Parts: sequence; structure tokens; C-alpha cells
Amino acid sequence: MQNKRGLLIVVSGPSGAGKGTVLAHTIVNYPTLRYSVSVTTRKPREGEVEGVNYYFKTLEEFEELLSRGEFLEHQKVYDNYYGTPLSKVKQQLDEGFDVVLEIDVKGALEVKNKYPDAVMIFISPAKRETIEERLRGRSTESEEQLKIRTASAIEEIKQAVFYDYIVVNEDVARGAADIIAIIEAEKCKVKNNKKFIDNLIYGGN
Ligand code: 5GP
Repeated sequence: MQNKRGLLIVVSGPSGAGKGTVLAHTIVNYPTLRYSVSVTTRKPREGEVEGVNYYFKTLEEFEELLSRGEFLEHQKVYDNYYGTPLSKVKQQLDEGFDVVLEIDVKGALEVKNKYPDAVMIFISPAKRETIEERLRGRSTESEEQLKIRTASAIEEIKQAVFYDYIVVNEDVARGAADIIAIIEAEKCKVKNNKKFIDNLIYGGN
């Protein structure tokens, strides 16, 4: 059954919620799911790879892409710009892959406006204290940046009410299993199977 076109899935959550880890685990275990690699003006962190984590660009290059209408959405997050490449996402959806965008809350709401069928998932830590602990553990930020990121993480949690689902990341495997369960349920929704139902009634495939 099912639509041939893939699902657009938007994942957000405060820094320190462990989104990246849960998503990486989800993708390994769900073959039709593709991660949308964003463009950013942020400098690469240690271990980050061009074209895998992000496409790292200068501000001028970013603005050029923006003026050519190449972003599905874009935002300034902290001091850097981030954008979702439009054509790649469209292409993967058309090919039948499910595409996951890991983006901030403002960008996520912009996507939902443009694509009301997008499945909105908010990943949260199990406890408030975990946010600062995780950010500290990453230790790529200065003390000042850490405070700013912790405060804005708490602010972001207030936006969870605009999402369809909340996944608590207490355990990575469980978080990933929850995301897969959400995707599977979305694929079984009647509104996503109209063509299949029509074919049952009228014939064809
Ligand atoms: P980081 O610099 O820690 O990788 O990401 C900072 C924030 O930017 C995270 O909340 C991340 O989800 C968000 N982000 C990453 N890529 C994009 C994007 O393409 N668009 C938007 N709106 N946010 C993004």
C-alpha cells in the first residue's frame, strides 16, 4: 500500500537533548530514511565532515544560495546562518525516501506552514538537568556560550506544544524506536493512503 512519495519529517529539540545521536541511530535502523544535510556558516566542530554533518559555507556563499531561492527554510541560530537545501529534499521525497530535517524551532514552524503534512517531532531530554550536563560534556563552547545555549534550550522547550509528537531521549535505542513507530503510524494514516484505497475500489495500481 502506501504513497510512493516519502514523508517529510521535522525533528527539533533543545541543544543537549541528544537529537543527533537519536537520529543517527534511527537512520541506521530505517533504510528508507534520509538525513537532510543543511548548509551553515558555522565553523566545523572537531570531527564534523563536509557534506555529512553540514555543507560549510562563508556568509557570502550562503547569501548567494539564499538569493537564488535554494532554501526550503533558513534561520539565524545563535550567531550563524543555517538553511535546508530545497532541491535535494524534493528529489528524495519524489524518489520515495522519507526525509528528516534536524532544524531549530523557528525553521520547523516555517516548514509546517509551507508543508502542512510535515510530521513534527520534538526530542527532549528526560530531565531538565541533562541539558546543561550534555552541553558541558560536549565542551566546545565557552562558559558564556554555554549559559546562552542552556537558557535558549529551556525557552525552546516551551515550543514543544506546536509539534505532533514528543520523543524523550532517555535511552538512544528507545528514542530511535519511538521515531520509527511514529513514521510507521504516519504511513498507515488513511489520509496518506487515499490512492491505495481508490485502487481497491476502482481497480488499477
Ligand atoms: P549546531 O550548530 O549545534 O549544529 O546547530 C544549532 C541549531 O541549528 C540546532 O538547533 C540545529 O537543529 C539547528 N539547525 C541545523 N541546521 C538547520 C537548518 O538547516 N535550518 C534551521 N532552521 N536550523 C538548523
